[in-house]
Formats: sequence, structure tokens, C-alpha cells
Amino acid sequence: MSDYDYVIIGGGLASARACEGIRELDASGSIALVTAEPRLPYHRPPLSKAYLRGERPLARLYVQQESFYREHRITVLAGTEAARITRRSRRVSLASGESIGYGELLLATGGRAWRLPLSGADLPGVFTLRTVDDCDAIRAAVSGARQVVVIGGSFIGCEVAASLTQMGVPVTMCFLEEYPLQALVPPELGQLIRSMLEERGARVIAATRPERIMGDGRAERVQLENGMLLDADVVIMGVGIRLNTQLAREAELELTEMSGVVVDEHLRTSDPHIWAAGDIAAWPDPHSGQRIRVEHWDVAYNQGHRAGRNMAGADEPYRILPYFFSDILDLSFEAWGTLARSERILVRGSVAERSVSYWYVHEGRVLGVLAIGRPEPEREAMQALVARGPLAAEVEVVLMDTGVDLASLAG
Ligand SMILES: Cc1cc2nc3c(=O)[nH]c(=O)nc-3n(C[C@H](O)[C@H](O)[C@H](O)COP(=O)(O)OP(=O)(O)OC[C@H]3O[C@@H](n4cnc5c(N)ncnc54)[C@H](O)[C@@H]3O)c2cc1C
Repeated sequence: MSDYDYVIIGGGLASARACEGIRELDASGSIALVTAEPRLPYHRPPLSKAYLRGERPLARLYVQQESFYREHRITVLAGTEAARITRRSRRVSLASGESIGYGELLLATGGRAWRLPLSGADLPGVFTLRTVDDCDAIRAAVSGARQVVVIGGSFIGCEVAASLTQMGVPVTMCFLEEYPLQALVPPELGQLIRSMLEERGARVIAATRPERIMGDGRAERVQLENGMLLDADVVIMGVGIRLNTQLAREAELELTEMSGVVVDEHLRTSDPHIWAAGDIAAWPDPHSGQRIRVEHWDVAYNQGHRAGRNMAGADEPYRILPYFFSDILDLSFEAWGTLARSERILVRGSVAERSVSYWYVHEGRVLGVLAIGRPEPEREAMQALVARGPLAAEVEVVLMDTGVDLASLAG
């Protein structure tokens, strides 16, 4: 098989964006995109939202249509798994036994959905959600299902449960935490999400652990640790991902303790010819002063592009403030900066009025914000303020006063 100037391993958003980034600076270098999935890179957020509900066709999920890869002479090796990287000779061995050479290599291998190791977790009728194929299988299974149990109270669990209620599918949700999204949002917002799901007909069981999935040849019931039995002809686990960093580990690239691939501010790994982007990349975030890894669309979108450009010779640091969005029923969230593990949350506005922003304080500084329904002009000021990371003590009184224009604080 051929050698390429650029090889990209992964078939997600970061990979597609890397192709765009490379081609902005290098019109002729040869590019191969190696993806284990049988299709072109696509956007995953609709898999728990509009695509799951049948409101958006597959054709509208692709990051780029087939014509883009053809016109830019990008070889897409779909349905092809990369099995090993040999750094010394700069080659990637494919599972087929062939190998391809690279000048610069991008790892954008993302994650795979985690399946809880419960008894019965491998029964037919038990699903996880990461790919279009997963989503198609779930859609087929829930049509006509008598009862669906969603395990997990984080974004995927909430979004899937919300979509199922919108599809008229009977759903019970169960999770370990006291309220939905407990790791990221204050109790009042978590309880609001819970009551919105319940108003739509979902049954929500918090603070519980599923113990086993039972059934005769396929899923029929979920048993909780308190002995409660939930009928379930379909079970969907939304319990997080495991990173696909085995290739990086075997190639002896530097990894974090949590298996993220360590990159510098240009998204280069510990090997000068190997780069990483998206869910797997742990980069030095100048805003928080921490090395962070983020599993969100916007990071894959921007890092993929930046890595592509840098592989093609640009020398551009990655300093973009982390951002994410989510939609649960008619609640749309946006967040910038660092939310997890904050010591204190300041509130601006009112969650009851669905117009609120929460400001996350870390070591005395405001480093993150999560907003719902705030006026459009505040979006820019929120980003500017969080990017500046002011001392909470200096801004909190005015920050919490909706009468004060945020722009005056952003500086
Ligand atoms: C259902 C769902 C809903 C989401 N909703 C939101 C949302 O609302 N907001 C938000 O901000 N984020 C959301 N996300 C997260 C977002 O989609 C991810 O952060 C993003 O997809 C990460 O992109 P990536 O390119 O890094 O990796 P991935 O999208 O995981 O792509 C990795 C690709 O690499 C391939 N691969 C892995 N190993 C190999 C190998 N050895 N050889 C070849 N190919 C390989 C995989 O098959 C896959 O195609 C959602 C994710 C899911 C699953």
C-alpha cells in the first residue's frame, strides 16, 4: 500500500476537520483517513437528539460529503482499523495486514461507549450509544417497546430519555447520583431537569445502582440494588466512554494517568511527527492553567482543524476556551470554561424563569459558566469574563446583579 504525507487515524469530527485544516495550507500533499467505521465522518450530537427521533436524515449528519474528499484527493479507508504504529519507520499497520507510511500522523481515535459489566449486560436488547449503527439499532428496538430503561444520569442518559419521551416511548431512567447531571450542575437545575422529564411521562429513579439485567434469551427486567425490578424490553446504557488510546499506548507515546494522550500547545504528542486531537487529547489549557481533556463537539471541531494546519506547517497554539452545548427537551444549555470540581457556584438570573447563568469558582477564580436562556448579548461577555478568570471576590456582587451589564465586567 502507498505512503502518504499525512495519515489520520479516526473517523470522527476531529479527523474530518484535520483534512480541512491540512488542505488550507497544503493543496497537494497526499492524505489518507483511516476509519474503523463503515462511513464518512459524521456529527454525533444528533444521535441522542434529532437523528434518534427520526427528525434528521443520515445525509445531514456528515461533516463533509463524499465530494469533498474526492475533490481534495483524500483517500478514505473506511471500515479499516489501524492496528499498530511503528514510530521508527513511520508506518501504520492495518488490521488487514497491510501497512501505510506517513510523514505526519494524527491520532483522533475518540472513545467507545462503556458497557457496565453487569450480569446480563450482553443480552440482546441491551444497547450503548456512540455510532450511527448503535442509534439505528436503538431506533429499531424502541419502536413498539413496552418499556425502555435508560441507565445513566449524565448528558447522554438525559438526552436519550428526553428524546424517547418525545417519541412517545415509555421510559424509566435510573442513575447513581441524587439528581441528573449532578457532576456538573447545581441541585436546583438538576431537579428542574428531573421534573421536566417526569412531566413528559418518564419515571426517574435517582440514587440507585442497577445490579443485573435479567431475561430469558433477551432483556426483560433490570434489578436494582434495593431489589426493585424494572420491566425493560430495551435497556440503554449512557454511562460514559473508554478512550481508544491503545495504539498510542503501544507506541509508547506519553499518556496521562487517565489514558489521555499528552499533547503540547500545538497538539503535538511526545513524538514530533504524531499529533492528537479531540476526545483523546490532553492539552495545556491556558485559561485554567491545567492539562485538560474534554469530550465535547467544539473541542473536536477546533482541535482537529488546528492539528491539521499545524501538521501542514502552521505554528499555531491551541488556546480556545472549552465550550459545549446540550439540548434536553426545551432546555438549551451552553457552557464555557471549566465546570467540574468547582468549590462554589454563583447564580445570575433565575432557573424558575429559565433564564440563568451559573458561574463556577475554582481556587477563588471564576473559570466556568453554564447558561440557559440568557439574553443573546451576554454570550460574548460570558466568554470574555471566563477567559479572563477574574477573582470571584472582585466580581461576585455585580455578577449576580442582573441589573448590571455583564460587558462592563468582562473588561
Ligand atoms: C450520542 C452522543 C451525543 C453527543 N452530544 C453532544 C453534545 O450535545 N454536545 C457536545 O459538545 N458533545 C456531544 N457529544 C460528544 C462529541 O460528539 C464528541 O466529543 C466528538 O464526537 C469527539 O470527536 P472525535 O473526533 O475526537 O472522536 P470520535 O467522534 O469518537 O471519533 C473517533 C473515530 O475513530 C475511530 N477509531 C478509533 N480507533 C480506531 C482505529 N484503531 N483505527 C481506525 N479508526 C479508529 C472510531 O471508530 C471513530 O470513528 C456527543 C456524543 C455522543 C456519542
